[in-house]
Amino acid sequence: MDGFPRRWLPAVWFSGSMLPFLMFFCAVAGAEWHYRDATVMGTLVQLQVWHEDPSVANAGIEAVLADMRRIDAGMSTYRDDSELSRINAAAARQPIPISDELGGLIARAMEFSRLTDGAFDVTYASVGYLYDYREGVRPDHAALEDALQGVDYRHVALDPERGTIAYRQEGVRVDLGGIAKGYAVERGAEILRSRGIEHAQISAGGDTRLVGDRRGRPWLVGVRDPRDRARIVAQLPLMDEAISTSGDYERYFEADGVRYHHIIDPGSGESASGVRSVSIIGPDATLTDALSTGVFVLGAERGVELVNSLPGVEAVIVDGDGNLRFSSGLEQQH
Ligand code: ADP
Ligand code: MG
Repeated sequence: MDGFPRRWLPAVWFSGSMLPFLMFFCAVAGAEWHYRDATVMGTLVQLQVWHEDPSVANAGIEAVLADMRRIDAGMSTYRDDSELSRINAAAARQPIPISDELGGLIARAMEFSRLTDGAFDVTYASVGYLYDYREGVRPDHAALEDALQGVDYRHVALDPERGTIAYRQEGVRVDLGGIAKGYAVERGAEILRSRGIEHAQISAGGDTRLVGDRRGRPWLVGVRDPRDRARIVAQLPLMDEAISTSGDYERYFEADGVRYHHIIDPGSGESASGVRSVSIIGPDATLTDALSTGVFVLGAERGVELVNSLPGVEAVIVDGDGNLRFSSGLEQQH
């Protein structure tokens, strides 16, 4: 990304002679920052919004959270009454009407499945649901083989004209756990902008969307050491873009020396094991969320190759040995 070195400039400039003046300015400006933490979509949502008028900032925050709750109510597979759960229960028997929003996001998810050659797969959950990371439950070989037959995004048939979705066989289920949070924070950015908010950070779990800059300097977003939560292995100055991290340390258990975590290789039905974490930086959080999961499954070599082929997209990968790997647009920084 040729924009990256350019984005460094404010950070460098900031450390120069203007520092005392800027520190004073930022302390005063700090009065207009508004912070909020909430639990939505089963994850920690954090908002940081700048606006001179606190009522505008707070109304923006409420609107974003309400929209995230709405997305969760329609798209969560943890709720039996969500639109997606109702579709999963019936779409193998006949085409089921689908809302434009859900149909649109599933279509987008299927584009990422094609782009990653099936490493990101909206139907991964046919095996994914056999694992319980809290309880340390995993499927035996026979159950896994059986469920794997339902895993293939090509089993999903969307008909945009009729507004329906159908599954080509039994046992298929769609799950948006690898893309819906990114979609929600991307919408959050649009909602804030439409209300005149030009500086904000919205994150949901590992997905972060930055609106504008941090009032005259870039946002600094850290990439965590996957084996030591307190350590940051890379820090990225970012503005007006998204960053998503997928790691093997968020939800996992260990058994017989194997780490079972929540990112599934759709080819084998087992947890993907080549890397420890993948952070993707790009123009839109829906994309960075899906790609962080997909590149995690692809592994460092194929993952970096894919990212290097996508304009405006960069990656920071902590590989299986704990070494840092960068896509070509970031390499020159290190
Ligand atoms: P999180 O922010 O929940 O940690 P990630 O972006 O790291 O999410 O993606 C992991 C989630 O994606 C899993 O919890 C699961 O819901 C879903 N998922 C797991 N494996 C795949 C896959 N191969 N393709 C698509 N989605 C997946
Ligand atoms: Mg993801």
